Amino acid sequence: MKFATKAIHAGQQPDPSTGAIMTPIFQTSTYVQASPGNHKGYAYARGKNPTRSALEKCIAELENAKHGICFSSGMGAIDAVAKLLRPGDEVITGDDLYGGTYRMFTKIYEQFGIKFHFINLLDQTTVKKHINANTRLIWIETPTNPMMNIVDIEGCSKLAKANKLLLAVDNTFASPYLQNPMDHGADIVMHSATKYLGGHSDVVMGALCVNDDKLYEQLFFILNSCGANPGPMDCFLVLRGIKTLHIRMERHCFNGRKIAEFLRGHKKVDNVNWPGFTDHPGHQVAKKQMKDFGGMLSFSLKGNKSEDAFRIASSMSVFSLAESLGGVESLIGHPATMTHASIPKAEREKSGVSDSLLRLSVGIEDISDLLKDIESALH
Ligand SMILES: *Cc1c(COP(=O)(O)O)cnc(C)c1O
Repeated sequence: MKFATKAIHAGQQPDPSTGAIMTPIFQTSTYVQASPGNHKGYAYARGKNPTRSALEKCIAELENAKHGICFSSGMGAIDAVAKLLRPGDEVITGDDLYGGTYRMFTKIYEQFGIKFHFINLLDQTTVKKHINANTRLIWIETPTNPMMNIVDIEGCSKLAKANKLLLAVDNTFASPYLQNPMDHGADIVMHSATKYLGGHSDVVMGALCVNDDKLYEQLFFILNSCGANPGPMDCFLVLRGIKTLHIRMERHCFNGRKIAEFLRGHKKVDNVNWPGFTDHPGHQVAKKQMKDFGGMLSFSLKGNKSEDAFRIASSMSVFSLAESLGGVESLIGHPATMTHASIPKAEREKSGVSDSLLRLSVGIEDISDLLKDIESALH
């Protein structure tokens, strides 16, 4: 089946007891057993819930993966992957990671004896140089947040396979509509379903996709043992959100392109980071691994003053000043003081997150209203 058909139907059948076309919200903690241990695959809802099962099958199909597992948040999903590691293991990851991932790796997992190398993943020889006998995992994001750097998934997967490492890809920014890391050799695909999958800023959830049966069992064991399972109502909301993912993404891409081009021509704007520009350093790789370039972009201001960025971020009327991304509504954020506040200033600036950098999650409103809003805020 093609993507749009899978988005609407994958993992879902009319409810056999009533014919309800939509997957019911199975708001239950336990399931009746005919005799001890004799149940229909569902014993207790921390382990499994039918609303969640439908969503997991749907997300797995959208990612061309065999298995999906949903978690109570994106961080819950990343935490499960980190729990595959043992003291002494090493992880290679990017130097412009999502702030929450950086915080978890440095503040939680370093104290358990896991070593993280935060490096420039754009250069494959740098990645290679950091691989040693203790390396277990390469963790990448692409496009990255908020600089919109593009990491070569296939290149990383070749290095991972040659050295028997796991490659995990945080696919939140692209969504499965734009990019399927499994097709480029990833072992684990991770989503903050809070963003494009849910798509309506009304739910927090995470997901993992894998092909390997053993890896799936390990991750499911961690979910069931540690308890970061999502509730059935949230699963229903994400299932419903996904039904329009392809349509929303088309409009996110269309609006994102228009806004990137407008900002690039504006006299107060310094750099615009958007992988659709042919002179973006990752453009060729983006063309290879992505279907289109998405609705996420960031830009810095001439003079690089945080007060100018603050003024713009606070004076918009269609764009809302808020954390998060991937919803139908347009958002603006100031990474240095919002999403990236927990990253030390020197490290933040090294990766390009300057004081005047603003990040846009371009929504699916009418493009003329969005452009008018930006134009008057920049005035
Ligand atoms: C939001 C986000 C996360 C964390 O997901 P939550 O659902 O907020 O826990 C991880 N990675 C990226 C790229 C994100 O944008």
